[in-house]
Amino acid sequence: MAEASKEWLDQFGVGVGGPSITCRCGRTHVAIDSGDLTEEERAAYTTRSQAKPKSYVFESGVESVTATLIDGGEIVDGCECGLMARYERFVSIERKAILAYFRAVADKAEKQANELKAGMADIAA
Ligand SMILES: [Zn+2]
Repeated sequence: MAEASKEWLDQFGVGVGGPSITCRCGRTHVAIDSGDLTEEERAAYTTRSQAKPKSYVFESGVESVTATLIDGGEIVDGCECGLMARYERFVSIERKAILAYFRAVADKAEKQANELKAGMADIAA
């Protein structure tokens, strides 16, 4: 799995953290030793993990797991799905189209602003 670069991750701020977070890929990452989990919660995660082992990732010796917010969802840092790297790859590969898009949006906004200014000038005259 490719990992997202530090330069890419740095653009998304601190993200979120907690004793458990479900990654957009569907895997629930659990800081199984976290003091924020009750014994009942720990037991429930263990039972669910035994039933669906591929759906749970237990991270030992940490108080919380962290995730990055992107595109309206959470991607757990270090998750094997590699979704952050895929987003980075997409933006990198499509950068010419993305830059052209922003240029077109800026041109449109500039045109609208100029029309507004012209309209205001007409009213003031
Ligand atoms: Zn994931």
